[in-house]
Amino acid sequence: MNQNAPENKVAVIMRRIRGKTGYDVAVRDPAATVEDYLAALDRAILELPLDRGRAPGRRSCAGCDRCCAERLPLTWIDYLNLKAAVDPEAGLADFLAAHAHVLVDGPVVDIILAGGGGGCCLLDPENRTCRAYHARPLVCRTFICCPSTIRARRLRAVLTNRGEDELVRQWLLDARRRGKPPLIHEGYAPRPRMGDWPPTPFAGCSSYREVPLKAVCPPGLWSALTAGSTVAH
Ligand code: SF4
Ligand code: SF4
Repeated sequence: MNQNAPENKVAVIMRRIRGKTGYDVAVRDPAATVEDYLAALDRAILELPLDRGRAPGRRSCAGCDRCCAERLPLTWIDYLNLKAAVDPEAGLADFLAAHAHVLVDGPVVDIILAGGGGGCCLLDPENRTCRAYHARPLVCRTFICCPSTIRARRLRAVLTNRGEDELVRQWLLDARRRGKPPLIHEGYAPRPRMGDWPPTPFAGCSSYREVPLKAVCPPGLWSALTAGSTVAH
């Protein structure tokens, strides 16, 4: 399918960047959602001949697990998707206890997918494939080990961070509801405060289809994404 087909609200466009074939992202429709962005990247991963820097010579991610040992921050919707796929009976605290790592350093909270000896806890140790591929986190769905433009990298970072902020807010609300301290796997003088985690555009949403890109992007990034021009690399 053509990335620039009129029905696509988000386009992922091939670009030569530092002598390699990478990509740029442009928003074609102001009503585009996070799911439109993820769908555009899914198409790019399958269709575009991007240079995979970590796996030279590859034109496909199929059968490769070299990016499955990184820090994997989770968003609120990642949690909902993964819970449905791997642990549907678990509540938030039980899910995080079993599948995540919660690090709190003073007021700063980071909730990431747990790692195992060989990388992510969802990586099958035998065949090295993802055990929850269709529910994998946003940070996995949006990573291709090729160069990308500034606006493409900023969009990925903003969505990951705002989505994680909502998960942190829910982690605090859940502890308050249960009348217990929030689960912490690793803490350094932890002092998380509810007031530091106001609702984000992910609040009240249960799928990426419900989250408009415009609501998440700061105005400068939104202007860059909708400008249609190529942004400096
Ligand atoms: S993006 Fe990840 S899975 Fe795809 S080729 Fe690069 S390292 Fe391998
Ligand atoms: S969730 Fe799946 S794709 Fe993402 S790091 Fe883990 S095994 Fe890899």
